[in-house]
Amino acid sequence: MVLRAISRRPANQETIPQEVKPCCIQVFVTYDGLEGENQLDSYIFDLMETHDYENIFFCQEKTLGLKAIIAIHDTTLGPAAGGIRMWPYESEADAIKDVLRLARGMTYKCAAAGASYGGGKCVVIGDPKHDKTEVRLRALGRFINRLNGLFLTGVDVGTTPEDMLVIRQETPYVVTVPEAWGGPSDGSQATAFGVVQSIRACLKEVYGSPELQDRSVALQGVGAVGTHALKYLVESGAIVTIADIDQERARLVADKYYTNIVSTEEIHSLRVDVYCPCALGNVLNDQTIRELRCKIVCGSANNQLGDNLHGDLLQARGILYAPDYIVNAGGLLSNLDSLNPGGFNHQRAMEQVSCLYNSMENIIAISKEQNIPTSRAADVLAEQRIASIRHLKSLAK
Ligand code: NAD
Repeated sequence: MVLRAISRRPANQETIPQEVKPCCIQVFVTYDGLEGENQLDSYIFDLMETHDYENIFFCQEKTLGLKAIIAIHDTTLGPAAGGIRMWPYESEADAIKDVLRLARGMTYKCAAAGASYGGGKCVVIGDPKHDKTEVRLRALGRFINRLNGLFLTGVDVGTTPEDMLVIRQETPYVVTVPEAWGGPSDGSQATAFGVVQSIRACLKEVYGSPELQDRSVALQGVGAVGTHALKYLVESGAIVTIADIDQERARLVADKYYTNIVSTEEIHSLRVDVYCPCALGNVLNDQTIRELRCKIVCGSANNQLGDNLHGDLLQARGILYAPDYIVNAGGLLSNLDSLNPGGFNHQRAMEQVSCLYNSMENIIAISKEQNIPTSRAADVLAEQRIASIRHLKSLAK
């Protein structure tokens, strides 16, 4: 299937916000060389129906050159939460596909991590280096404001806490703002804390105790999350070996925390209790899974599995895999804490993040009960939670 071309016509004027004018969209789709508007008209609605999307908002401010799409996937658990991604998409179709995929991911992430929020996402078409101007951010903020709390937003690729400060001038529905303004900052510390809680739950399952003392960990990537995780791990008595493509950085960090460094090619294959990927995605593929000599894989990196089947492969090898989108939910949970009356509270946020230990326990239990890989058990946990709240809501009607 190829998504090929997009044309626009204005939406009903009555529903158009003054500053930002959304458009109706027609998408041209080619199926195996067959092409035609009949197949196209239903493309977006088909997508929405297949994966249960609630709304998609197209937002355009012609005079400013702003083009953004906000997808609301599911609000059963609460308002949709999701960051703003700015990216120079090659086509509008790519942007639509990305926003839909990301919004759905947020539903699952919030649900499985125990947050009372749904899933949404905003993508802005443009290069953050050149196209991210204050007027555009403010126009986007006005649009988000018109959604009246349906969508709560924060940072993602291409946006920063400082951008959120601009957007917040137009709408209160922003969760990530700089620390100096009472926000939780970039969230990497909370993410790292969540990684460590997830590791503890995995250790309990594999070794009967969540204690980190004398447990060996291979930490791949000592950037924002990796460095915080290293600190927590070392302070808890774990023996950590690190690797980073930035060798200067690796040396500095190793000196500070008295850890060993190995090459980036061998870090995943060390004989350790835990392999903790905190760098890049696709680290669990046909080749690396064969080379693993750990009992547990648990780290913050997004999209660790090259393919869903790699979750099955890890299970077959008897390696406990902690699903990435649960493990790295700490930053999100911490950001969402800012929505409480009175604003962000560090201690309360960390208490919420520590609940990832329980989420991980639940995932392991589902995986064992249903004999499915943990990667799938995480989805089941999310779906069960949404279904039970939906059921309760239907009873209350
Ligand atoms: P970062 O850019 O600060 O750190 C990544 C580190 O990995 C860098 O030091 C980089 O040099 C290193 N690296 C890159 N390629 C490597 C390789 N092949 N081998 C070893 N090291 C390599 O990023 P971060 O914010 O620490 O995030 C790490 C991962 O966690 C990313 O996948 C990110 O998407 C994910 N994540 C982060 C957060 C957060 O709060 N920052 C939240 C959720 C998920």
